[in-house]
Amino acid sequence: MRLVPQLIVRLGGDIRLAMILLFGALTVVSVIPFAIFRALQGDWVAAAVDTLMVLTMVGNASFAWMTGRTVLAGSINAVVVSATCAVLPGVLGMAGLFWIYTVLLANFMLAPRWLAVSCGLLILVGALMTAPFPNAMAATAFVVSTALVMLYAFIFASLTEYQRQRLVGLATRDPLTGVANRRSMEVELADVLRSHQEQAQPAALAVVDLDHFKRINDLHGHDAGDRVLQAFAQLVEHCIRKRDRLFRFGGEEFVLLFPATDREGARAALEKVQRELRENLMGPDGPVTVSIGAALLAPGDDWPAWLARADQALYLAKRSGRDQVRFDDPRPSPGERRLHLVMPGSG
Ligand code: GH3
Ligand code: MG
Ligand code: MG
Repeated sequence: MRLVPQLIVRLGGDIRLAMILLFGALTVVSVIPFAIFRALQGDWVAAAVDTLMVLTMVGNASFAWMTGRTVLAGSINAVVVSATCAVLPGVLGMAGLFWIYTVLLANFMLAPRWLAVSCGLLILVGALMTAPFPNAMAATAFVVSTALVMLYAFIFASLTEYQRQRLVGLATRDPLTGVANRRSMEVELADVLRSHQEQAQPAALAVVDLDHFKRINDLHGHDAGDRVLQAFAQLVEHCIRKRDRLFRFGGEEFVLLFPATDREGARAALEKVQRELRENLMGPDGPVTVSIGAALLAPGDDWPAWLARADQALYLAKRSGRDQVRFDDPRPSPGERRLHLVMPGSG
């Protein structure tokens, strides 16, 4: 990808990175002339502080761009600039106060909120101790105005973060069942494939399909079907491990992903899921069963191929009478049927 499109895609998806780069660029443009001016005046302390600030911003922007560690880079920016701001009135006199409001606001865009508040308090205390306020009224006005700027910035940052989280939820969750949606599945399968290639970690995937689900809709209505789907998702999420993932693939079909899990682990987990559902998944006419097709990640698989093998196993589970788990056989001998029964169901 060329640089400008790459820049737009990355900055559009990462506000903090965009702010770190913008902050870096603006600091370079606005502080370098001051550094030169003060050096020409022979004010070496102020010139050194300005130069240090520029170097920190440029170094941090490069670090954030290259590593993606934007919280760390943004936090370093906030701490360095705030510490400088806290002593600036002592060096520049009252002129040092003018920079404080910009930094108070920028901190909330660069660093986590608790750190932005802490940096704000550091600036406030530092400025109160070092600035040559002409009288108590001026100092009071300074305290009230900085407190208000911090409060506005805090509220704005909190609302923005809340809305960001809601948007992420809408984009990655299925609204009916609350489990992760197909879009998240594609991202997470790609992640698991990457760690399989890098660390040779095994992984298993299962496609779970509710048996005769259409009957529930036809006989009792769509809402009754929806309630069964919700109950299914709750029961499965309750009985899998934290690192295992449940996705709604579409309709009444779900995908279970077991990272860092071998065949035996996957078999045990699926037995548990099936037992839980057999005992507790109730429709309007009684127990609802599921058919499951599972496949271990094999060398050379991309995720659609992996999923297709699990889907084939599901097809066979359905054809063999439903309410059962089948594994795709990764090592079929020539002429041997590719799929074999691993775990017959009780129904
Ligand atoms: P099988 O055992 O072969 O899987 O039979 P089935 O009836 O479950 O399979 P089929 O694929 O024929 O039917 C799936 C049904 O799921 C059809 C569709 O109307 C229903 N469905 C898909 N999405 C939803 C949903 O969000 N809510 C409800 N209530 N039903 C849905
Ligand atoms: Mg079905
Ligand atoms: Mg189906």
